[in-house]
Amino acid sequence: MSERIKKATRQTNQNEGLIFEKSSPGKRAFELPPLDVPAADPAKALGEAHRRGGVEGFPEVSEIEVIRHFTRLSTWNYAIDLGMYPLGSCTMKYNPRVNEFVARLNGIATEHPYQPQELSQGCLKVLQLLEKCLLEITGMDAITLQPAAGAQGELTGLLLIRAHHTKNGNPRKKVLIPDSAHGTNPATAVIAGYEVENIKSNAEGQVDLAHLREQVTPDVAALMLTNPSTLGIFEQQIPQIAEVLHAKGALLYMDGANMNALAGITKPGDLGVDVMHLNLHKTFSTPHGGGGPGAGPVAMKKILEPYLPVPVLAEKEGGRLALDFQRKDSIGRVRAFVGNFGVLVRALAYILAYGPGLRQATEDAVMNANYIRKGLEDAFDLPYTKPSMHEVVFSDAIQKKNGVSTMDIAKRLIDYGFHPYTTAFPLIVPGALMIEPTESESIEELDLFIDAMKSIALEATETPDLVKTAPHTTRVRRLDEVGAARKPILRWKPSGKRSEAAD
Ligand SMILES: *Cc1c(COP(=O)(O)O)cnc(C)c1O
Repeated sequence: MSERIKKATRQTNQNEGLIFEKSSPGKRAFELPPLDVPAADPAKALGEAHRRGGVEGFPEVSEIEVIRHFTRLSTWNYAIDLGMYPLGSCTMKYNPRVNEFVARLNGIATEHPYQPQELSQGCLKVLQLLEKCLLEITGMDAITLQPAAGAQGELTGLLLIRAHHTKNGNPRKKVLIPDSAHGTNPATAVIAGYEVENIKSNAEGQVDLAHLREQVTPDVAALMLTNPSTLGIFEQQIPQIAEVLHAKGALLYMDGANMNALAGITKPGDLGVDVMHLNLHKTFSTPHGGGGPGAGPVAMKKILEPYLPVPVLAEKEGGRLALDFQRKDSIGRVRAFVGNFGVLVRALAYILAYGPGLRQATEDAVMNANYIRKGLEDAFDLPYTKPSMHEVVFSDAIQKKNGVSTMDIAKRLIDYGFHPYTTAFPLIVPGALMIEPTESESIEELDLFIDAMKSIALEATETPDLVKTAPHTTRVRRLDEVGAARKPILRWKPSGKRSEAAD
């Protein structure tokens, strides 16, 4: 099968052991000259209680062994800098080096968030400009840059909604969420103290307006709309949805994590959306990875502005910028300082580097997804046929006939040198293959991907076992993902003394 694999796969040491296993007594990574001053007594400096005589099994290795060990480990990771990362909904786009250059500039990299405001005017100016850009892109009136992730943005948004209703006498009880929404939406609504009521999509994957009219009762606080939905489809009746809600005093929240399908083309504020979050670590090219740091700014209409989390960036007389903590209706703080400053700087660099070209980034993201859709529509089942935006969602219905599932195909894709796409999500598509190329990919890389996927589709009929037992080129095969999440072993102990998950 190897002649079918056209993309270079990783050539790394696949048998790297634990650093503990490389240890031999007495090895050191450094050698210092003999001490020529009196030795400090660690017991005195730290207090006897804090003193540890030694660490059991502490690895003793030389400098080059340490370097090689961690360098080899680092090559096991798949990264956007190695190749296409088509993880649907996650928007794994290229992190431009100009972002990094700007973030490392003197005066930005060395700035401390809690310097006095007189000394932080430049950094506050950066934040102000980013706020202006994001308000322009979203068509909203006010914004907070504080939330550290999309999900935290959602929570902030719902707390704003709750504050608004509470101020009007009743926080209300329910939040409506379509079945095509992102999974974080219902989780957020519950954490914000609301009951979740599901809205069924119609056969085209859109919110059913007639059904919605019946569901919006006076105890509905808001509807959370993922747009484009997790089917990669634009929700086409947003103004009508907003009207139905507003007529009953409810608000419209838009999950704008995937604004990369809309930026520069459509403004949610113009469509009747009251509040939304953005994922700077998706749409605006800042790194994800390792759980962050990210940024999930929340933009809103005027009616929600009084409840903004503190501090709020304010322009005083003479153009001086200040952080305003005195806001009586604020929901309080949601994050230290004003959010992840280094991430905010990178997002601004991305926006300014594109300028009006941001619209083209959006068009290219949509075109790339549709190029893949066209290239694969004969090989894979496409359950919803409305035009695709930034991602395309197939199902494994054809391959399932030979017992091959979306998970098998995703694992086989690793052998072809690609990171898997998103599997089994959205939930309304059984056996989903959710593919998002982003605007970063060239036609050559897209062709390689299409070629790999078609080749796997062929394997699924000719040699299904090859796909079902994939991956074949990785150090480990199929991991116990549930076990890894539920019973993580986070600390190595000398053999015979396996630590418990609680460690
Ligand atoms: C990624 C994503 C989120 C959650 O964002 P995090 O930064 O991972 O918390 C929410 N909604 C949608 C549609 C997303 O794609």
